[in-house]
Amino acid sequence: SGTTSNNFLRTLIAEDLRSQKVTQIVTRFPPEPNGYLHIGHAKSISVNFGLAEEFGGICRLRFDDTNPEKESQEFIESIQADVAWLGYRWEGPVRFASSYFDTLYGWAEHLVEQGKAYVDDLSADQAREYRGNLTEPGRNSPYRDRSVDENLDLLRRMRAGEFADGERVLRAKIDMAHPNMNLRDPILYRIRKAHHHQTGDAWPIYPTYDFAHGQEDAIEGVTHSICTLEFEDHRPLYDWFIANLPVESQPRQYEFGRLNTSYTVTSKRKLKQLVDEGVVDSWDDPRMPTVAGMRRRGYTPAAIRHFCEMVGTSRSDGVVDVAMLEHAIRDDLNQHAPRAMCVLNPLKLILRNVSDEHPPIVAPAHPSKPELGERALPFSGELFIDAEDFREEANKKFKRLVLGKRVRLRNAYVIEAVDVQKDAAGEIVAVVADLIEGTLGNDPEDGIKPKGVIHWVEASSAVPATVRLYDRLFTDPAPDRGGADFMSFLNPQALRVVEGALLEPGAAAAAPETRFQFEREGYFVADRFDHREDAPVFNQTIGLRDVWAA
Ligand code: ATP
Ligand code: MG
Ligand code: MG
Repeated sequence: SGTTSNNFLRTLIAEDLRSQKVTQIVTRFPPEPNGYLHIGHAKSISVNFGLAEEFGGICRLRFDDTNPEKESQEFIESIQADVAWLGYRWEGPVRFASSYFDTLYGWAEHLVEQGKAYVDDLSADQAREYRGNLTEPGRNSPYRDRSVDENLDLLRRMRAGEFADGERVLRAKIDMAHPNMNLRDPILYRIRKAHHHQTGDAWPIYPTYDFAHGQEDAIEGVTHSICTLEFEDHRPLYDWFIANLPVESQPRQYEFGRLNTSYTVTSKRKLKQLVDEGVVDSWDDPRMPTVAGMRRRGYTPAAIRHFCEMVGTSRSDGVVDVAMLEHAIRDDLNQHAPRAMCVLNPLKLILRNVSDEHPPIVAPAHPSKPELGERALPFSGELFIDAEDFREEANKKFKRLVLGKRVRLRNAYVIEAVDVQKDAAGEIVAVVADLIEGTLGNDPEDGIKPKGVIHWVEASSAVPATVRLYDRLFTDPAPDRGGADFMSFLNPQALRVVEGALLEPGAAAAAPETRFQFEREGYFVADRFDHREDAPVFNQTIGLRDVWAA
């Protein structure tokens, strides 16, 4: 906090508290339970919960469940799990817009009684026609001047389920010529004989977002109703309801710019399409920009929160380079993830001067964090290295193992390759090498230094593992914008599965969701659902190389 805030809401709230316009701030995060939360929602969560936390206020979690057909209990549960995983706690019980349906309906009757709402019989097509457009004023519906009694009777019959879906709507009576289209007699209730996951079949009519949202805020004593910019034009309507209904508090709406990241789609509808069409396995597939997907991918709550803070909160929509998110993840993991070794493409390495009784080598879990402890690496005359790390011949740029040359085994000795074993087809099946004595932590005494460092595992103790390598789901920086279908930018290489990778035994024994840096390969996490000690499954979180330039 402070004066150099990258968040205009922080400045505004500080001023509201200073001037005692409010004594405690109350915010809410109001998702519709029609999909899993994505990185954009994480931003909204960090804004709403973060500001409440920072200013000693409270934040509620409220499901904006006014469209029952697209909503489900699965989404309600995943959203709660995601908010909690990000590290936030909502005040009191989870709220539901649907728990206010009685109150909202009472307020609809109140507007009718005040002559401020009417039942309209125009069909949807006719209503569109009457509504006009940005350059032409709308026209009054022929049903606009119904008497209060007739309106009340029709509304009650709508509520009783007497009419078919779409036959009538309840509208506010505001101004059909208003330059803001949202004030041209907006719809308050629609007839929809749909089963609701919370209220069952109790309601044949459902309130619109506009008629519900501000009133819910008022019921809950929300002081700062923070939403994204697309609702800016709805604010006058939000204020109209608050001014014309006997609500118990006076919430105010504030808008900020949506967060979008490059190479990503952040629309629940499009994310749902990826799941429904089998492009990904599930909403929490590690390729997905969902909170649950990022979790399975190994992203940390702290890094996601830090990223949301870094991008700032402003009054304009923006596209943030996804490399900045990746940078935040890498930075966090570099500091906190213990190290392990995993050989993705194993090639046998025979150390002809090492006996099988060699004691384990003790290595730090993290090179600069002694508090993370040490690990024991089994060592013997038979190891595996990565096939990419050996060549029979190579020029000076190849800083790995070459026949006749030396390399250091990470955390262990310097070795020198002396021979190769080949199969009948001429493929190398093993490299034979000598261990240079006295090189554990020291350079060779003869002064011939190794050319580089490679990782390895001990043959008899290494655990075969499945390793999933990920790349961005889309090949285009803006799959979601512009003319083409976002599905045409899918990256076919977004997932590569490596079977038979060989893993250091300590990492195999780790609990699901344990994160590691696999030395020289990148950051990996034990899969939340599929990982087992005897059949490890690791997901690549992010590579080692940072491509983000501040
Ligand atoms: P989508 O367009 O992906 O379906 P939505 O806005 O319809 O998202 P809601 O469930 O209504 O999803 O969103 C809950 C809250 O999260 C709202 O206040 C909304 O403004 C906010 N939000 C949604 N997407 C973003 C985003 N990309 N950046 C910031 N906030 C967002
Ligand atoms: Mg939506
Ligand atoms: Mg929405």
